[in-house]
Amino acid sequence: MEDLRDRVELVVRQVVREVLAARSGELELDRFMEPADRWGVRRPLVAANWKMNMTASAVRDYAARLDPRPDSGVEVVICPPAVLLPVLVAALGPDSPVRAGAQNLHPESSGAYTGEHSPQMLRDAGADYAILGHSERRALFSEDDAVVRSKVAAALGAGLRPIVCVGERLEEREAGATFRVLRSQLSGALGGLVRPAPDPSDVVVAYEPVWAIGTGRTATADQAQEAVEFVRQRLSEMFGWRWAEQARLLYGGSASPDNAEELASRPDVDGFLVGGAGLDPDALGTMIALTCKAKSDERGSG
Ligand code: PEP
Repeated sequence: MEDLRDRVELVVRQVVREVLAARSGELELDRFMEPADRWGVRRPLVAANWKMNMTASAVRDYAARLDPRPDSGVEVVICPPAVLLPVLVAALGPDSPVRAGAQNLHPESSGAYTGEHSPQMLRDAGADYAILGHSERRALFSEDDAVVRSKVAAALGAGLRPIVCVGERLEEREAGATFRVLRSQLSGALGGLVRPAPDPSDVVVAYEPVWAIGTGRTATADQAQEAVEFVRQRLSEMFGWRWAEQARLLYGGSASPDNAEELASRPDVDGFLVGGAGLDPDALGTMIALTCKAKSDERGSG
């Protein structure tokens, strides 16, 4: 029932936006005002989550082979295991446009937390981003929304940009509960940030349906767009429409060179969080190029 209400609301909002946009150029102008770069309000982003893979020598080889397509304007982030962060940063070199990210953090800045890494340590090791609330951490390490919320706050406090993962399990989708799950995960992870809201360019949300992660089963472009549009709508309720229009929303779940262009052609999909395909530098390079193409085509036709 709640999902039905959310769907109706989504359609009504879309109709209102289109009617208003047709009556005056105002909405479009507003949307592309800031920042003044080629992408308008949101720079596409492709982030690779290496999970617990790679060794130091494999990282060096990867960095030598990766073409991050600097002319594409797509921001590229690689998230290796924490111990490999300095290796990756050194291998990329000081002039690389590629940024590094962590896969997790502990919300405290120091203390008796054996085996953990503080946000400050990860910054020191070269990370600019941190993946938080990944479904593997939720399922395998019992991270709930309260834990994710404390990590998001700690990341932002230390100058790390969180990539907050949300997404429903298969049984939740089949029960028609996708929007309810997304709503509750977003409130849980980001609710504490309502006042004052961080800069929208500092917060990334990745929609990662659990049933699509590492399974080879990808959400259709329509499913991905519907979910990220709902995420943007929910962010606008929390932080205001202008804020939400500037926040970048990624799709993750068996994204690959085979499906990247179609998924990225959808207006609210601003890029990808990539697991398996991100372990291959050629595949990642192709996805960066396809994301650039899809977003350029979309802007050209929009
Ligand atoms: C992920 O783990 O965040 C992910 C999207 O994995 P994959 O691309 O392998 O599905």
